[in-house]
Amino acid sequence: MIKNYMEIVVSEVLDEVLKNYDICKCENCIDDIKSIALNNLPPVYFLSSEAEGEKKAFLLDRQRRISVLAKVAEAVEIVMNNEHNKNKNEG
Ligand SMILES: [Zn+2]
Repeated sequence: MIKNYMEIVVSEVLDEVLKNYDICKCENCIDDIKSIALNNLPPVYFLSSEAEGEKKAFLLDRQRRISVLAKVAEAVEIVMNNEHNKNKNEG
């Protein structure tokens, strides 16, 4: 089965963000945050011939995690400003 490795990095970074920020953690919001972030990041697929070490290095790359975090933070902003969350905060 093929995997988008960028998606794995986004999921891991998002887990950290969800732990550290007081934001809505319902399934819709989490999916929306992920989708928006992934729309703004290039998908990455490895060939079957690629070494496991390459894949690991990709997932652990510090600089990449920082750029992914920036996109995730942007996505959080957008989702937290959507109607569902606005309504929640009113009254
Ligand atoms: Zn929500």
